[in-house]
Amino acid sequence: MSDHTGRLTIDLVALAANWRSLREQLYHAECAAVVKADAYGLGVDAIAPVLQAAGCRTFFVADVDEGVALRRLLGDACRIFILQGCPKGAEGSLLAHQLIPVIVSAAMFERWANMAQMRSGAPCALKLNTGMNRLGVEQSDLNRLIEQPTLLRKARVHWLISHFACADTPDHPLNSLQLTRFSEARASLMQLLPELKTSMANSAGILLGPQAHFDLVRPGIALYGGIPTPAAARFLQPVVGLKLPVIQVRSIDAGQSVSYGADYVAPEPKVVAAVRGGYADGLLRSLCGRGKAWFNGYLPLLGRVSMDCCVFDITHLAPEQRPQEGDLVELLGASISIDDMAQDAGTISYEILTRLGKRFKRHYLN
Ligand SMILES: *Cc1c(COP(=O)(O)O)cnc(C)c1O
Repeated sequence: MSDHTGRLTIDLVALAANWRSLREQLYHAECAAVVKADAYGLGVDAIAPVLQAAGCRTFFVADVDEGVALRRLLGDACRIFILQGCPKGAEGSLLAHQLIPVIVSAAMFERWANMAQMRSGAPCALKLNTGMNRLGVEQSDLNRLIEQPTLLRKARVHWLISHFACADTPDHPLNSLQLTRFSEARASLMQLLPELKTSMANSAGILLGPQAHFDLVRPGIALYGGIPTPAAARFLQPVVGLKLPVIQVRSIDAGQSVSYGADYVAPEPKVVAAVRGGYADGLLRSLCGRGKAWFNGYLPLLGRVSMDCCVFDITHLAPEQRPQEGDLVELLGASISIDDMAQDAGTISYEILTRLGKRFKRHYLN
């Protein structure tokens, strides 16, 4: 089937299967889903209801606007955490939409607790900095809070969470250090709040094993087919496919160059295909010299990626195997995973997904 802007497919069956496979890695913990940034660029309106239908009851988004939209989409029967917590003035929206802020600093906690003393506050989660040094209250903040048990209860701290910095490198010493710090904080807080629930693991964290699971795990990228550590490859499926149409096929002589800057010079006569799709569609310029497509074989990217177009080498294919104008070549799919493209581009699969452009029509398979 030909499609002049390209075909971005999102396999919702594979998405649901990935969520279930991740859940099967757990003994007692609940499996949530992280759907921030429009479900990693794939379209939260399509993604979140499928996860909910698969049995997911807890969702994480980045900010309050995403939370409000998700509440409207999913209705009242699920839990929604806001990873960036409660910005000044957002208390009303959080309460009105039953969103659970992940409180990330002592100042934010104070604001939330003051508000909770006036109205009967909604529950919140407290994020502890165990070594990521990005967001979270410090251990010393926590120690001070533990001396104010009434305040802690008033603020309805139902959750303690933290975040691994190096879970995708299972042997990194920071993993066990973070686990120890988190477990100690959990133990001391639970003396005051025996009902406290805890969560630490993202996708890669799940693969660290049961000691990292606590009560709730928070996979994102693995749901969307990213392979967080090699051990996960056996139970996760690709979700995203991208096929782009050939606009033109041409032959060039030895010594001729291709694309801006004349970076690539053909060492011998070449047959090349210009393909629709460029950096304005999320095909990163860093793919220059390293990217590839697939059509009856791998097709190396030649020269620079431009805004709307890329050029691939098809010389090595037998003439009848070469793509023609209108044929779709694969940029992502069975032969090229999001992790492969990320490696070629010198980035991570998260950036590949979240940059996939608005010009691609998203086709949801179910
Ligand atoms: C984004 C995020 C996740 C999900 O991470 P993945 O690596 O995509 O599984 C989990 N927890 C927090 C705090 C996050 O910011």
